[in-house]
Amino acid sequence: MAPVDTAPVPLPKVSKQLVVYDFDWSLADQDTDRWVHEVLAPRLRRKLKALKSEVQFTDLCAQLLVELHEVEGKSRQEIEDALKRMPFHPAMIKGVKDLKQKSKDEGQVQTTFLLLSNSNQVYIDTILGHHGLLPPNFDLFTEIITNPATWTPEGLLKLERRIPADSPNQHSCSVGCSPNMCKGEELEAFLERHGGRSNFERIVYVGDGGNDYCPVLRLAEKDLALVRRYRGLEEKITKVGNVKAGIRYWAGAWEVEGILRELGGEQISD
Ligand SMILES: [Mg+2]
Ligand SMILES: [Zn+2]
Repeated sequence: MAPVDTAPVPLPKVSKQLVVYDFDWSLADQDTDRWVHEVLAPRLRRKLKALKSEVQFTDLCAQLLVELHEVEGKSRQEIEDALKRMPFHPAMIKGVKDLKQKSKDEGQVQTTFLLLSNSNQVYIDTILGHHGLLPPNFDLFTEIITNPATWTPEGLLKLERRIPADSPNQHSCSVGCSPNMCKGEELEAFLERHGGRSNFERIVYVGDGGNDYCPVLRLAEKDLALVRRYRGLEEKITKVGNVKAGIRYWAGAWEVEGILRELGGEQISD
Protein backbone atom coordinates (compact mmCIF):
# COMPACT_ATOMS: atom_id res chain seq x y z
CA MET A 1 0.00 0.00 0.00
CA ALA A 2 1.18 3.52 -0.75
CA PRO A 3 2.34 5.43 2.34
CA VAL A 4 0.12 8.27 3.54
CA ASP A 5 0.82 11.90 4.44
CA THR A 6 1.96 12.55 8.00
CA ALA A 7 2.26 16.37 7.95
CA PRO A 8 -0.42 18.41 9.74
CA VAL A 9 -3.35 19.88 7.81
CA PRO A 10 -3.34 22.81 7.54
CA LEU A 11 0.40 23.46 7.74
CA PRO A 12 1.36 25.78 10.63
CA LYS A 13 2.05 29.40 9.77
CA VAL A 14 5.65 30.54 10.18
CA SER A 15 7.42 33.84 9.57
CA LYS A 16 10.77 32.49 8.29
CA GLN A 17 11.49 29.26 6.44
CA LEU A 18 14.03 27.49 4.25
CA VAL A 19 12.92 25.59 1.15
CA VAL A 20 15.50 23.10 -0.14
CA TYR A 21 15.06 21.77 -3.66
CA ASP A 22 16.57 18.78 -5.36
CA PHE A 23 16.79 19.46 -9.13
CA ASP A 24 16.23 16.34 -11.27
CA TRP A 25 12.62 15.08 -11.10
CA SER A 26 11.92 17.61 -8.31
CA LEU A 27 12.28 21.23 -9.45
CA ALA A 28 12.67 20.03 -13.06
CA ASP A 29 10.45 17.32 -14.52
CA GLN A 30 13.24 15.11 -15.90
CA ASP A 31 16.79 13.98 -15.14
CA THR A 32 19.52 16.15 -16.73
CA ASP A 33 22.32 13.55 -16.85
CA ARG A 34 20.11 11.05 -18.68
CA TRP A 35 18.12 13.49 -20.80
CA VAL A 36 21.15 14.93 -22.62
CA HIS A 37 22.07 11.47 -23.91
CA GLU A 38 18.47 10.42 -24.56
CA VAL A 39 18.15 13.42 -26.87
CA LEU A 40 21.61 13.52 -28.45
CA ALA A 41 23.11 10.00 -28.30
CA PRO A 42 20.86 7.07 -27.25
CA ARG A 43 23.91 4.80 -27.45
CA LEU A 44 25.44 6.69 -24.53
CA ARG A 45 22.14 6.58 -22.66
CA ARG A 46 22.25 2.77 -22.92
CA LYS A 47 25.87 2.82 -21.79
CA LEU A 48 24.94 4.90 -18.74
CA LYS A 49 22.31 2.35 -17.82
CA ALA A 50 24.70 -0.56 -18.31
CA LEU A 51 27.60 0.90 -16.27
CA LYS A 52 25.65 2.70 -13.55
CA SER A 53 26.15 -0.01 -10.96
CA GLU A 54 29.91 -0.39 -11.69
CA VAL A 55 31.26 3.16 -12.03
CA GLN A 56 30.76 6.06 -9.56
CA PHE A 57 27.91 8.08 -11.07
CA THR A 58 29.63 11.49 -11.44
CA ASP A 59 32.73 9.85 -12.92
CA LEU A 60 30.55 7.90 -15.35
CA CYS A 61 28.68 11.05 -16.42
CA ALA A 62 32.02 12.84 -16.92
CA GLN A 63 33.29 9.96 -19.10
CA LEU A 64 30.13 9.92 -21.19
CA LEU A 65 30.42 13.68 -21.79
CA VAL A 66 33.94 13.11 -23.16
CA GLU A 67 32.50 10.49 -25.50
CA LEU A 68 29.60 12.75 -26.47
CA HIS A 69 32.15 15.37 -27.51
CA GLU A 70 34.94 13.25 -29.01
CA VAL A 71 33.12 10.28 -30.53
CA GLU A 72 29.61 11.58 -31.18
CA GLY A 73 30.83 15.08 -32.13
CA LYS A 74 28.05 16.90 -30.27
CA SER A 75 28.62 20.63 -29.77
CA ARG A 76 28.08 22.93 -26.80
CA GLN A 77 25.17 24.47 -28.71
CA GLU A 78 23.49 21.10 -29.17
CA ILE A 79 23.85 20.23 -25.48
CA GLU A 80 22.50 23.63 -24.41
CA ASP A 81 19.56 23.29 -26.81
CA ALA A 82 18.76 19.84 -25.41
CA LEU A 83 18.78 21.22 -21.85
CA LYS A 84 16.48 24.10 -22.78
CA ARG A 85 13.98 21.61 -24.21
CA MET A 86 13.96 19.47 -21.07
CA PRO A 87 10.55 19.25 -19.37
CA PHE A 88 10.15 21.91 -16.67
CA HIS A 89 6.61 22.34 -15.44
CA PRO A 90 5.17 25.88 -15.58
CA ALA A 91 3.28 25.21 -12.33
CA MET A 92 6.56 24.58 -10.51
CA ILE A 93 8.04 27.82 -11.86
CA LYS A 94 4.94 29.75 -10.82
CA GLY A 95 4.91 28.14 -7.37
CA VAL A 96 8.50 28.99 -6.46
CA LYS A 97 8.36 32.50 -7.93
CA ASP A 98 5.13 33.39 -6.15
CA LEU A 99 6.45 32.15 -2.80
CA LYS A 100 9.80 33.92 -3.18
CA GLN A 101 8.02 37.10 -4.26
CA LYS A 102 6.16 37.17 -0.93
CA SER A 103 9.50 37.67 0.87
CA LYS A 104 9.62 41.20 -0.59
CA ASP A 105 6.64 42.12 1.60
CA GLU A 106 7.55 42.64 5.25
CA GLY A 107 4.27 41.29 6.61
CA GLN A 108 4.61 38.02 4.67
CA VAL A 109 6.59 34.84 5.28
CA GLN A 110 10.30 35.17 4.46
CA THR A 111 11.50 32.20 2.39
CA THR A 112 15.10 31.32 1.60
CA PHE A 113 15.61 28.88 -1.29
CA LEU A 114 18.54 26.45 -1.56
CA LEU A 115 19.21 24.19 -4.55
CA LEU A 116 20.98 20.97 -3.61
CA SER A 117 21.62 18.80 -6.63
CA ASN A 118 23.76 15.94 -7.85
CA SER A 119 23.50 17.30 -11.41
CA ASN A 120 26.06 19.98 -12.32
CA GLN A 121 26.52 23.76 -12.41
CA VAL A 122 26.35 24.09 -16.21
CA TYR A 123 23.18 22.01 -16.66
CA ILE A 124 21.45 23.86 -13.84
CA ASP A 125 22.55 27.37 -14.87
CA THR A 126 21.54 26.70 -18.49
CA ILE A 127 18.06 25.48 -17.53
CA LEU A 128 17.37 28.04 -14.78
CA GLY A 129 18.62 30.84 -17.04
CA HIS A 130 16.40 29.66 -19.89
CA HIS A 131 13.33 29.73 -17.63
CA GLY A 132 14.16 33.15 -16.17
CA LEU A 133 15.04 31.86 -12.70
CA LEU A 134 18.51 33.40 -12.42
CA PRO A 135 19.55 36.99 -11.69
CA PRO A 136 19.08 39.58 -13.08
CA ASN A 137 15.68 38.17 -14.13
CA PHE A 138 14.78 36.58 -10.81
CA ASP A 139 16.86 35.98 -7.70
CA LEU A 140 15.44 32.68 -6.44
CA PHE A 141 18.28 30.66 -4.91
CA THR A 142 20.53 31.92 -2.12
CA GLU A 143 22.96 29.10 -3.01
CA ILE A 144 23.20 26.41 -5.66
CA ILE A 145 25.18 23.45 -4.36
CA THR A 146 26.10 20.90 -7.03
CA ASN A 147 28.99 19.30 -8.93
CA PRO A 148 31.31 21.77 -10.70
CA ALA A 149 31.39 21.80 -14.50
CA THR A 150 32.97 24.03 -17.14
CA TRP A 151 33.09 24.26 -20.93
CA THR A 152 36.47 23.96 -22.61
CA PRO A 153 37.06 26.28 -25.60
CA GLU A 154 36.61 23.18 -27.83
CA GLY A 155 33.11 22.60 -26.45
CA LEU A 156 33.72 19.69 -24.09
CA LEU A 157 31.75 19.85 -20.87
CA LYS A 158 34.21 18.97 -18.11
CA LEU A 159 32.39 17.57 -15.10
CA GLU A 160 33.95 16.95 -11.68
CA ARG A 161 32.86 15.57 -8.33
CA ARG A 162 31.75 18.08 -5.66
CA ILE A 163 34.21 16.26 -3.36
CA PRO A 164 37.18 15.25 -5.57
CA ALA A 165 38.28 11.60 -5.27
CA ASP A 166 41.74 12.74 -4.04
CA SER A 167 40.46 15.21 -1.45
CA PRO A 168 41.47 14.52 2.16
CA ASN A 169 38.01 15.75 3.20
CA GLN A 170 35.75 12.86 2.14
CA HIS A 171 32.30 12.89 3.72
CA SER A 172 31.55 10.55 6.56
CA CYS A 173 27.93 9.74 5.76
CA SER A 174 26.76 6.22 6.44
CA VAL A 175 23.26 6.16 4.96
CA GLY A 176 24.34 5.52 1.40
CA CYS A 177 25.32 8.87 -0.17
CA SER A 178 27.60 8.62 -3.21
CA PRO A 179 31.27 9.61 -2.52
CA ASN A 180 30.98 12.80 -4.62
CA MET A 181 28.45 14.45 -2.28
CA CYS A 182 26.49 13.91 0.91
CA LYS A 183 23.38 16.05 0.64
CA GLY A 184 22.78 15.78 4.39
CA GLU A 185 26.21 17.19 5.25
CA GLU A 186 25.79 19.90 2.59
CA LEU A 187 22.48 20.93 4.15
CA GLU A 188 24.02 21.08 7.64
CA ALA A 189 26.92 23.17 6.32
CA PHE A 190 24.50 25.54 4.58
CA LEU A 191 22.59 26.01 7.85
CA GLU A 192 25.88 26.79 9.62
CA ARG A 193 26.67 29.46 7.00
CA HIS A 194 23.21 31.02 7.37
CA GLY A 195 22.66 31.56 11.07
CA GLY A 196 22.15 27.97 12.19
CA ARG A 197 19.10 25.74 12.25
CA SER A 198 17.31 28.00 14.72
CA ASN A 199 17.36 30.79 12.13
CA PHE A 200 14.55 29.01 10.27
CA GLU A 201 11.24 28.12 11.89
CA ARG A 202 10.71 25.41 9.32
CA ILE A 203 12.81 23.57 6.75
CA VAL A 204 11.01 22.16 3.73
CA TYR A 205 12.75 19.60 1.50
CA VAL A 206 11.47 18.80 -2.00
CA GLY A 207 12.96 15.59 -3.39
CA ASP A 208 12.47 12.32 -5.21
CA GLY A 209 15.67 10.27 -5.20
CA GLY A 210 17.50 7.83 -2.96
CA ASN A 211 20.17 10.47 -2.29
CA ASP A 212 17.50 12.80 -0.86
CA TYR A 213 16.90 10.34 1.97
CA CYS A 214 19.99 11.49 3.93
CA PRO A 215 19.00 15.19 4.17
CA VAL A 216 15.35 14.25 4.83
CA LEU A 217 16.51 12.09 7.77
CA ARG A 218 18.15 15.19 9.31
CA LEU A 219 14.91 17.18 9.36
CA ALA A 220 13.11 17.71 12.67
CA GLU A 221 9.46 17.07 13.58
CA LYS A 222 8.40 20.61 12.74
CA ASP A 223 9.96 20.36 9.27
CA LEU A 224 8.33 19.10 6.09
CA ALA A 225 9.40 16.65 3.39
CA LEU A 226 7.66 16.90 0.01
CA VAL A 227 8.29 13.46 -1.42
CA ARG A 228 7.64 12.57 -5.05
CA ARG A 229 5.67 9.37 -5.50
CA TYR A 230 6.94 6.14 -7.11
CA ARG A 231 10.64 6.97 -6.90
CA GLY A 232 13.72 6.17 -4.79
CA LEU A 233 12.99 8.47 -1.86
CA GLU A 234 9.49 7.07 -1.33
CA GLU A 235 10.93 3.56 -1.54
CA LYS A 236 13.57 4.29 1.13
CA ILE A 237 11.04 5.92 3.44
CA THR A 238 8.73 2.93 3.05
CA LYS A 239 11.48 0.33 3.58
CA VAL A 240 13.75 2.02 6.13
CA GLY A 241 11.65 4.79 7.65
CA ASN A 242 13.01 6.85 10.60
CA VAL A 243 11.84 10.17 9.14
CA LYS A 244 10.94 12.63 11.90
CA ALA A 245 9.63 15.41 9.63
CA GLY A 246 6.05 15.51 8.45
CA ILE A 247 5.59 14.16 4.93
CA ARG A 248 3.40 15.24 2.02
CA TYR A 249 3.55 13.02 -1.05
CA TRP A 250 3.09 14.45 -4.53
CA ALA A 251 3.22 13.19 -8.09
CA GLY A 252 2.69 16.23 -10.32
CA ALA A 253 4.21 19.72 -10.12
CA TRP A 254 0.70 21.22 -9.82
CA GLU A 255 0.39 19.56 -6.43
CA VAL A 256 3.61 21.17 -5.21
CA GLU A 257 2.37 24.52 -6.49
CA GLY A 258 -0.60 24.18 -4.11
CA ILE A 259 1.61 23.19 -1.17
CA LEU A 260 3.93 26.14 -1.86
CA ARG A 261 0.92 28.44 -1.62
CA GLU A 262 0.09 26.88 1.76
CA LEU A 263 3.70 27.51 2.79
CA GLY A 264 3.12 31.12 1.82
CA GLY A 265 0.28 31.31 4.33
CA GLU A 266 -2.58 30.97 1.84
CA GLN A 267 -5.63 28.91 2.61
CA ILE A 268 -6.14 26.31 -0.11
CA SER A 269 -9.68 25.12 -0.76
CA ASP A 270 -11.43 23.39 -3.67
MG1 LIG B 1 16.11 14.04 -8.08
ZN1 LIG C 1 24.60 11.49 3.41
